[in-house]
Amino acid sequence: MERELAPRLAELVRDIPDFPAPGVVFKDLTPLLGDPGAFAAVVDALVEPFAGRGIDQVVGIEARGFILAGPLAYRLGAGFVPVRKAGKLPSAVEGESYALEYGTDLLEIHADALRPGARVLVVDDVLATGGTAAATVRLVERLGAEVVGLAVVVELGFLGPRSRLRGREVVSLVHYAESTLVGR
Ligand code: AMP
Repeated sequence: MERELAPRLAELVRDIPDFPAPGVVFKDLTPLLGDPGAFAAVVDALVEPFAGRGIDQVVGIEARGFILAGPLAYRLGAGFVPVRKAGKLPSAVEGESYALEYGTDLLEIHADALRPGARVLVVDDVLATGGTAAATVRLVERLGAEVVGLAVVVELGFLGPRSRLRGREVVSLVHYAESTLVGR
């Protein structure tokens, strides 16, 4: 990743205090996603570490993970598989409950979405506590597929998400320690 990318992207991430609950500072990526150059740079930077590594499917986490998982899947020559909130997927599912930075929830994947041994990249917009990503990893592995890595735009390092994802390859583009931006 080019060295100037993190601060350039960070300028397009908007802090929304007390959304969706008091005490949460929501990282709003819509200005970044709406910028043609920044959107392309994000896709390029997240594709690069995983190109040529035999990714079969990109698993996107509802809802904002879908935005990036589509172009990443296309660029990697992979398929797209959604992980969705409970009750949204129409066919038979596997489910996992998980703790959010602000609440708990249930995630589901179609039981036949991944073949055993498939090589999977998991994608979301923001890694906060890591609970959502960890639950998605459990879902993928329950289907017998292999998680090659995880790709996100923003990592809230001060919430310690990597402690829930030990031994996993995690690529993030903008990393926040406390409220200070740490460019990578
Ligand atoms: P977590 O399970 O705590 O890592 O939460 C990650 C999921 O919740 C992602 O799907 C994010 O879109 C969303 N999320 C959690 N915290 C934030 C935040 N502070 N700003 C933006 N999105 C967040």
